[in-house]
Parts: sequence; structure tokens; C-alpha cells
Amino acid sequence: MCPVCRARFRGERVCSRCGADLTVVMTLVASAWRMRQAARQALAAGEFARTRDLASRAQQICRTPAGRRLEALGAWLAG
Ligand SMILES: [Zn+2]
Repeated sequence: MCPVCRARFRGERVCSRCGADLTVVMTLVASAWRMRQAARQALAAGEFARTRDLASRAQQICRTPAGRRLEALGAWLAG
């Protein structure tokens, strides 16, 4: 979502409604995505505490329903 006008984020560098520069938003979204991917790899490798930590960091940057489930699963498996 655009932090200036709250228009839906469409994956473009400039907001289609207010023209705000969304480069930083895109960088953060991409970095959270990479962190969730790393969390999934940790999950497959049986590293559950690492899964939870990576998913949690990704959620702090950009909250998604998939990230929330990944964080909850990692936390449950890590005990
Ligand atoms: Zn906007």
C-alpha cells in the first residue's frame, strides 16, 4: 500500500494515484520476500528456530498472511 495516499501497491516504482516514489517500499517488499524464502529453506532443512526468526524478521518489514503462517509454524516447531 502507498504510505502517502494508501492506494493499493501495484508493484510499480511510482504510485499511480499520488505519484509518490515507492522505490524504498519495493526494496523492503523484496527483502521481506527473500527472507520468507530463506525461512522456507530453513523449514525444509529442519532448522525450525531459524525458520521462526527469519519469518518474524520478514513480518516486521512487510506483513503478509503467508508470513504470519510461516512464523507461527516455525514457532510451533521450534517449541
Ligand atoms: Zn500514493
